[in-house]
Amino acid sequence: MQSKQEYIEKAESEIYKTYNRFPIVFDHGDGVRLYDTDGEEYLDFGAGIAVMGLGYNDPEFNEALKKQVDKLLHTSNLFYNVPAVEAGELILKASGMDKVFFTNSGTEAVEGALKIARRYAYNKDGGHDHEIIAMKHSFHGRSFGALSVTGNDHYQEPFKPLLPGIKFAEFNNLDSVKKLVNDKTCAIIMETVQGEGGIYPASEEFLKGVRALCDEHDMLLILDEIQCGMGRTGTMFAWQKYGVKPDVMTVAKALGNGVPVGAFLAAGKAATAMSPGDHGTTYGGNPFVTAAALKVLELFEKRKIVDHVKEMGEYLTKKLKFLADQYDMITSQRGIGLIQGLEFSVPVAPIVNQVLLVQKLVLISAGANVIRFVPPLVIEKEHVDEMVEKLEAVLKSQL
Ligand SMILES: *Cc1c(COP(=O)(O)O)cnc(C)c1O
Repeated sequence: MQSKQEYIEKAESEIYKTYNRFPIVFDHGDGVRLYDTDGEEYLDFGAGIAVMGLGYNDPEFNEALKKQVDKLLHTSNLFYNVPAVEAGELILKASGMDKVFFTNSGTEAVEGALKIARRYAYNKDGGHDHEIIAMKHSFHGRSFGALSVTGNDHYQEPFKPLLPGIKFAEFNNLDSVKKLVNDKTCAIIMETVQGEGGIYPASEEFLKGVRALCDEHDMLLILDEIQCGMGRTGTMFAWQKYGVKPDVMTVAKALGNGVPVGAFLAAGKAATAMSPGDHGTTYGGNPFVTAAALKVLELFEKRKIVDHVKEMGEYLTKKLKFLADQYDMITSQRGIGLIQGLEFSVPVAPIVNQVLLVQKLVLISAGANVIRFVPPLVIEKEHVDEMVEKLEAVLKSQL
């Protein structure tokens, strides 16, 4: 066992530096707690970026993984496998979608969704000039396709040229979307709740308007639920509270509770747009990762996670509203369920740092001025109280 500092120095010399990491080496976790290599305990309100919905080291989840490890890890998609079929059945039931394709990550789910959109339009007119409308301040991933629909100049600029035919509208501004629609537009892609962009839920008027626009022009509505899906907003998928349904949806993050698995799902006409040979993956949907997704979906039902999120979300909202009222440097509170943000009038990096290093509370930011709250979905009120206490200790020291 080496010292923390030695691990960090080695990591910095070995691992390609595309992140500025916090000087912490986590060793293990339990429930909503993380422990570093020095044995320090942390309260976790980041969940590995909205991934660890069921928390850490869940015995039932771990048992399912261990069983599958001893049975079968991988076969390729040239064959069928049981966990994929069973996980597929549950996710289709939970979403009301018609078809699912399991991927290795969120960004790959977005790639698949974009390919459905292109294929759908191509099937109609054989053209190669189809356009997609995406949103400013969105985040859909880092691969070229996903990056092309990510409305962030800083992420895009060094990697141009990106996909052609992508136009950016203002999130929650229906007129700005309407202005970009023409007879080449084949899809509109957006997060139901913008995550990385600063925790902005779509307004009901906007989402319903975009749905109607898609119907009117025969465009596909792609909802990216990678961060806000899987129960985090108090419904299994965030769009389910809006009374609209997407043609294509992406999920990942909490789907595997730490095992890398994502999916794109399609309904109706979008579900038959691609044919054999159009898309593939070697690992995607293998028995190991789909055994994880299957157990996650089973435990969501068995433990009524979504109802729990509703209750905890209300409590967290109340506490964050209280903080926003209390501190002038907090300019707004927004979010749904257990995806919440507090916007500050100052950069939040120093606050997040101090909260982590001094108070041993893991919080993450979403952009320069927003602290994001995406805890494990299994938090209890006492954890919310503890989080508020730790955060307040730092806020008071900043006054
Ligand atoms: C995290 C995220 C992605 C990318 O997922 P990866 O698994 O990191 O590739 C895409 N869309 C949204 C909304 C996300 O939050």
